[in-house]
Amino acid sequence: MKIKRIVLVCLVIVLYGCKALKNANKEANIAKNVILLISDGTGLSQVSSAFYFKESSPNYSRFKNIGLINTSSSREDVTDSAAGATAFACGVKTYNGAIGVADDSTEVRNLVEISSMKKINTGMIATSSITHATPASFYAHTPNRGSAEIIASHLAQSEVDFFAGGGLQFFNNRKDGRNLLHELTENQFKIDTTSLNDFSTIKSSEKVGYLLAKDAMPTVTKGRGDFLSKATEIAIQFLSKDNSGFFLMSEGSQIDWGGHENNAPYLVSELIDFDDAVGKALDYAEKEGNTLVIVTSDHETGGFTLAAKKKKTEDGEAYSDYSEIGMTFSTTGHSATLIPVFAYGPGSEEFAGVYENTNIFEKILKVTKWGSLE
Ligand code: MG
Ligand code: ZN
Repeated sequence: MKIKRIVLVCLVIVLYGCKALKNANKEANIAKNVILLISDGTGLSQVSSAFYFKESSPNYSRFKNIGLINTSSSREDVTDSAAGATAFACGVKTYNGAIGVADDSTEVRNLVEISSMKKINTGMIATSSITHATPASFYAHTPNRGSAEIIASHLAQSEVDFFAGGGLQFFNNRKDGRNLLHELTENQFKIDTTSLNDFSTIKSSEKVGYLLAKDAMPTVTKGRGDFLSKATEIAIQFLSKDNSGFFLMSEGSQIDWGGHENNAPYLVSELIDFDDAVGKALDYAEKEGNTLVIVTSDHETGGFTLAAKKKKTEDGEAYSDYSEIGMTFSTTGHSATLIPVFAYGPGSEEFAGVYENTNIFEKILKVTKWGSLE
């Protein structure tokens, strides 16, 4: 009788333990913070270039959950960055050129607006102008990506708490004469147009904005330094300071521009720089355990390949030298190839598989519950 009771008690303890563990796992699958790193114009060959040309091991190799997305826009097989980013930010397929609006030009709620309802802190970083198509799609609504001044005014009125990039002229040298730097300051922002500061100097600020170039930031080869990594690191520190959860979008904008120029050294230097920023996000996520890191791209640019180098023998006969890579391009535009998605942290298994670019938005909301009414 006694033994029976002991066995029963043990069974209850084991069952209760299992349930607690199950609940803990359930909690573990909810991401408190999301860092979405977008490398504009990056297909698998661009990613692969880090494995051949980066001196240290690429941070891409730290992911275990990998997926593929179809990036076509609502009207075109080949997307542009506006429709591509709107798919991530708002979860809708729209036409090329559209920023935060649906195919019928009506405004669609973006991740910044949705997460801010839950008091989530939000940040935007780009190596282009901060008003460029990719970051713009996360905080602005306009039928035309070229409206940089409208986009800048939307940023000033948005819920974004931290931003860093170029584009100063769209804030302080505008056709309408408005000085958005004043408006941003009135809206609790500490604005800096000279350089990134350490976290300790911005810690007590309500919101922080860096506008460090008139238009785009310089290229890596022309002295941008570690801007992208450093801004990503500072943004993480700033957005996590009150522990309420955060959403950060950080973009390597110029990998795309290297592709458009068919300039392999430009492309690869920008990709390696982006991979460094991925490392910063992963270091934080590994340490904290509650942060989902997603790395993907809006589309591929240049039809880039890591082909065996074309050479000629002494007799003038062409051959491919398999011992050397000769980077080549097939277009100066974008391509429609499927794009890889790399995910790490709670909910990252959701990002395995083959799906549409709009599902990135849905999956983020699913694993964070930012869209729920609770
Ligand atoms: Mg972009
Ligand atoms: Zn492009």
